[in-house]
Amino acid sequence: MRAYALWTMGFLVLAALSVPGAASQRASVPTLRANGMRMQERILRLAEFGRDPRGGVSRVAFTEADRQGRAYIISLMRELGLAVRIDPAGNIIGRREGLEPQLPPIAFGSHIDSVPNGGRYDGVVGVIGALECIQVLTEHGITTRHPLEVIVFAAEEGGLFGSRAMIGAVTPEALDVVSQSGMTVREGIRAIGGDPERLAEAVRRPGEITAFLELHVEQGGTLEAEGVPIGVVEGIVGINRWDVEIEGFANHAGTTPMNQRRDALVAAAELILAVNRVVTTVPGRQVGTVGRIEAEPGAINVIPGRVRMSVELRDLSAEKIEQLFERIREEAHAIEQRRGVTITFTPIDATAVPALMDARVRRLIAETAQELGLRVLSLPSGAGHDAQNMARIAPTGMIFVPSVGGISHAPQEYTRPEDLANGATVLVHTIVKIDRGALSRK
Ligand SMILES: [Zn+2]
Repeated sequence: MRAYALWTMGFLVLAALSVPGAASQRASVPTLRANGMRMQERILRLAEFGRDPRGGVSRVAFTEADRQGRAYIISLMRELGLAVRIDPAGNIIGRREGLEPQLPPIAFGSHIDSVPNGGRYDGVVGVIGALECIQVLTEHGITTRHPLEVIVFAAEEGGLFGSRAMIGAVTPEALDVVSQSGMTVREGIRAIGGDPERLAEAVRRPGEITAFLELHVEQGGTLEAEGVPIGVVEGIVGINRWDVEIEGFANHAGTTPMNQRRDALVAAAELILAVNRVVTTVPGRQVGTVGRIEAEPGAINVIPGRVRMSVELRDLSAEKIEQLFERIREEAHAIEQRRGVTITFTPIDATAVPALMDARVRRLIAETAQELGLRVLSLPSGAGHDAQNMARIAPTGMIFVPSVGGISHAPQEYTRPEDLANGATVLVHTIVKIDRGALSRK
């Protein structure tokens, strides 16, 4: 018994002794600090490419502005000593070799294409932040064990093209789609230096990337409202959408008594309220929207005979979405009985499944931020990101920084330099920890 106690004590002493070693290893790291002003300058410089006279940027994928912006990023990568290549999907990959080049790289990045008349920060923060990490490591003379790859994904807006290609999820038909640039995706990929005939060579398989990290602006107002500088993304919500058709009977608005009407628009009004009620009466952060509606025949003196509308539900859990939809269907059934209409739901193909971020990576980002004295909040992402694709082939995490006023996809989009610095600082520390084996220890 006593021997056992002594052995236990010895073990505790050893454990205690090992702590200073671990601490000193960590102690060298907090000196790594991203430069928010330098990031801000580069973000504004990049915003010159595609600068929109209405404010903000229009740097739509594959356009001349996109190509100029990409050339600027490639020049920054070369200045920072990265070996740059364009993969067949048009993704820009800047690589810094590690001490053990055979290890799978740690990858991080985002995108620089924008929506028309969009903001200067969406995606850009993750790219400029990734380059800032490389620069900070170089300034501190740190060479990681793993190779590092900064990835600028091609054509993120409107379909996450580059990251989809990287996980082998691009269908041949997707190449013939006419993109917002006016070019087909196939032509666009060629225009930015990719090769649509060799897309298979852009594919990275599970195990080929140690971890993927994406720094991004929140694009919502939660972090700012809570006064929290760092968001740890739990996952990217799944999106289910339906076309809804309500069939009533179009009739004379003057001669049809109220109790004999089959008014499709009144039924639609009840259904819109039902969607809102179902989504808001169960706990959670799910959202539901009816964003589109049209009534036929659309005349002032005719009872609407038919309504077409949309329903969209988003949540981190596919089961939750399914449950909400079942309840909406029950409500719709009651409306059918009450109003003498028929309601048909047709799923829209654009459905996206929820993508959870890796639990170890999430924990690591949160711990890292807290060690740096930064408060963190876990939150879902209601917007799509390249990280949702990368999560299918590598342990993936996302770091959010506050968007002033929660504004995004608009010229007023803004993130403060100190928040840029906080985000990139958390990113570089997380990279260093992953390099030192933090994911395999957990
Ligand atoms: Zn983005």
